[in-house]
Amino acid sequence: MCRRKCRKRFVVASQSTACHQHQLTTQTDLRGQLRLNEPMARHVSWRAGGCAAQAYFPADLQDFIAFMVRLRHDEPLLMVGLGSNLLVRDGGYQGTAIFMHGVRRGLSELRLEADGSIYAEAGVASPKLARFAANHQRAQAEFFAGIPGTVGGALAMNAGCYGGETWNFVERVLMINRQGEKVLRTPKDFTIGYRHVGLNAATDEIFAAAWFRFPDDTNNTARSRIKELLKRRIAQQPLQLPNAGSVFRNPAGDHAARLIEAAGLKGTWMGQAQVSEKHANFIVNPEGKASASAIEMLIARIGASVQEKFGVALVPEVRIVGDAVVEESTEVSAKK
Ligand SMILES: Cc1cc2nc3c(=O)[nH]c(=O)nc-3n(C[C@H](O)[C@H](O)[C@H](O)COP(=O)(O)OP(=O)(O)OC[C@H]3O[C@@H](n4cnc5c(N)ncnc54)[C@H](O)[C@@H]3O)c2cc1C
Repeated sequence: MCRRKCRKRFVVASQSTACHQHQLTTQTDLRGQLRLNEPMARHVSWRAGGCAAQAYFPADLQDFIAFMVRLRHDEPLLMVGLGSNLLVRDGGYQGTAIFMHGVRRGLSELRLEADGSIYAEAGVASPKLARFAANHQRAQAEFFAGIPGTVGGALAMNAGCYGGETWNFVERVLMINRQGEKVLRTPKDFTIGYRHVGLNAATDEIFAAAWFRFPDDTNNTARSRIKELLKRRIAQQPLQLPNAGSVFRNPAGDHAARLIEAAGLKGTWMGQAQVSEKHANFIVNPEGKASASAIEMLIARIGASVQEKFGVALVPEVRIVGDAVVEESTEVSAKK
């Protein structure tokens, strides 16, 4: 891997904030795709943000492991699923982004095990897991149908909704460490909370796969419940506009959306980013032209306003990484 060359190119790219793309052929024993200066706006649901200095799209689990073995152990690493909870600042990410969903196959293995558990690799889309479980007469996986991310992202975030939460159904997980070694872990190795998962041991490991156990769908209602939950989402969320789902976690005993709406912030613009008119805890990028800094400033503005009006400190749920670029002309306004 021509690390020094890549770094040099990225310095130029990050100064201009433009992503000058380069594709590299990978070394012969790697089967995935390596790219330089990959525009992350293509890969995150907000459709905004800067570039990753280097991006790797593994062909499959073995290829991902082979890449990890080769990667410098101190290389900054950003795991990316479907980017539905992620924003890379406009100055870009000076490290390596690894895409589990992949341009080809990725980490996409999904199967029913002989013991009745479901094995899903990190790149499997959560809605696919929901449908697979329902088709195999398993209940309570329906909530995954409306979460537009991957299994890896759901494990990292403890994603959940409508009463379901990812880690309630995890039996064990396959982790890969920075040396490319496989580590099997169980939920007791983690501190698990609301939209939070932390490994108890101080090691740097990545979710590669999980074994889920769901109860039997004795009433055969899982498939109709998926339809019903998706209908509810379409009615409540601005799904036709680029967004990243709920921006803030709900504070104990309340809803972030209620507080944001009560603070009079629905519809507020910051540059090209707007607090959704449909769901106050969503920030949308209606024309696909918002900068990451406009989105981040709007998040800060919402947090400050809710704190000032109600004394509640909202905690962001979305993950923001990378380097900022100062944007002088962005102003908050009631109109665009
Ligand atoms: C319209 C919409 C609705 C949503 N509704 C919900 C909802 O109801 N409930 C909910 O919980 N979330 C919801 N979300 C947020 C988001 O979909 C979830 O958090 C999802 O689980 C993120 O998965 P992802 O693959 O997109 O992760 P990404 O956005 O790609 O990454 C999110 C975080 O996980 C890390 N990560 C990703 N993969 C791995 C891995 N393999 N190993 C280690 N870390 C990893 C990333 O580095 C990042 O920090 C919604 C988002 C949208 C756009």
